Amino acid sequence: MSERFKVTYSTLASPDPRLHQLYEEAVVQAKANFGKNYPMFINGEERFSEKVFEKRSPINLDWVMGTFQYGTVQDVNDAVAAAKAAFPAWSRRPWQERVALIRKAADLISDRLFEMAANMSLEIGKNRLEALGDVEETADLFRYYADAIEKNNNFNFPLLSESEKHHNRSVLKPYGVWVVISPFNFPGALAGGPASAALVAGNTVILKPATDTPLTAWFITQCLRDAGIPTGVFNFITGSGRVVGQSLLDHPDVAGVTFTGSYEVGMHILRTFATARYPRPVIAEMGGKNPVIISKKADLDKAAMGVMRSAFGLQGQKCSACSRVYVHADVKEAFMEKLLALTSQINVGDPTIKENWMGPVANQSAYEDYQKFVADLREHGNVVFGGKTLEVPGYNGYFAAPTIVDNLPLDHPLWKVEMFLPIVTIAPFADLEEAMALANDVEYGLTAGFFSQDEAEIQWWLDNIEAGVLYVNRPSGATTGAWPGYQSFGGWKGSGSTGKAAGSFYYVQQYMREQSQTIVD
Ligand code: NAP
Ligand code: MG
Repeated sequence: MSERFKVTYSTLASPDPRLHQLYEEAVVQAKANFGKNYPMFINGEERFSEKVFEKRSPINLDWVMGTFQYGTVQDVNDAVAAAKAAFPAWSRRPWQERVALIRKAADLISDRLFEMAANMSLEIGKNRLEALGDVEETADLFRYYADAIEKNNNFNFPLLSESEKHHNRSVLKPYGVWVVISPFNFPGALAGGPASAALVAGNTVILKPATDTPLTAWFITQCLRDAGIPTGVFNFITGSGRVVGQSLLDHPDVAGVTFTGSYEVGMHILRTFATARYPRPVIAEMGGKNPVIISKKADLDKAAMGVMRSAFGLQGQKCSACSRVYVHADVKEAFMEKLLALTSQINVGDPTIKENWMGPVANQSAYEDYQKFVADLREHGNVVFGGKTLEVPGYNGYFAAPTIVDNLPLDHPLWKVEMFLPIVTIAPFADLEEAMALANDVEYGLTAGFFSQDEAEIQWWLDNIEAGVLYVNRPSGATTGAWPGYQSFGGWKGSGSTGKAAGSFYYVQQYMREQSQTIVD
């Protein structure tokens, strides 16, 4: 694409009309490409399987976007062998060359911004600005990790020396074959981000994307290929998590893994990956059950806007989505009125159409979960908005209304379950300490939000909330929204295994191990 747009926070806040036009042209083009058969990419070659699976759009199940390969254990073995064979040369190459290649791939992603975003909207039901953001964030993660290697001289530092005859250094070195397993909800950033970090650090990579989002991962594969990634250094394999994912993890030649997805699968990986002959690193980024506390000293307009955007953006399917709100009893009624007014303005429908801020939920099991959760919430609480699936004329898709639930008893299990749907539950509180105890009383600790105009209250909240990503008084997203270099993004407790966040100072080092080198003259 010749016309290049730099998408940032500010472009997304007030998009240029040309941005809309280019996106709309790309949607037409993406639809013209429906129905192709897409390969895997193993040892520098396209590979097809005997068995394929269809990828249909959740916007309209009649849209068969393409077919993808059901990878087999043989494909896994071949990909690991290729990555292992490519590791010595790739890891010993001057780091400047790896940095240059990753930057080139980032530029190729930016060049294909509209094409990738349009396909991503169709693939997973993201609205246009969310999809454009995800694609450009992917490219910026590539750049961020390349910059991190460069700024730190590839983490090669002198140590103290006993005498002039001693030359002591600390160096970081890559591990080897690194597996990246990614989720459906940020199919660009959460596949490309970890893959680029692993690669620029000198590892070779096998990417296994979510079965719902193989197409975005194929675009990333093409950008790396076109940037000139050497044979075997990057491999892309599709198929089920249980077969392809699990056999990658069970392979003895895999040195490390980055998993982003649910708590259940992440904990399973953490437990089973440790049964090998020696410890191997696992970066597991898992779910959230993200709370917002609204003090009686809050600006309620900001609070309502922030909660609405975080609860319902991407149909509530962000790991950072706000799913619990604790609001001071004195201001609850006023807050609810504002939240309902904003929520009633949301259009749900084909998210490639500008007017529709919400698209469909991701897949059939999410659609069924929604109906199951809503039935439970209706029985035990008060559904004050939404709570129903929606028919959109002309579409056969998984549309569900944004849903606000009041009066759900605090001991109801759904206060602790990550529903991962456009559902938010609201409860009043009498004092802030009580709200803090509730907010922290879950297995998760990913993001959290607070609304108050009182500085002492804000400091108290920052000091006590147990989560990795905090936002105070943020109308553009009470618990959501992060960009490399602007917000570090990583979870505490059951939301993340390392305590080090993506898009920040300590991330890329996790793909390397330290070696101390003492040389005596
Ligand atoms: P998921 O169901 O846990 O799947 C994630 C990935 O794991 C998919 O590629 C899946 O493949 C694969 N997988 C499943 N079982 C596996 C196994 N036994 N061995 C190896 N791989 C396996 O998650 P999701 O539904 O795609 O994504 C939603 C979840 O991700 C939510 O919980 C959300 O909070 C979390 N998330 C967390 C973050 C974060 O940064 N902390 C960011 C985004 C999302 P298949 O698709 O083929 O099953
Ligand atoms: Mg899933």
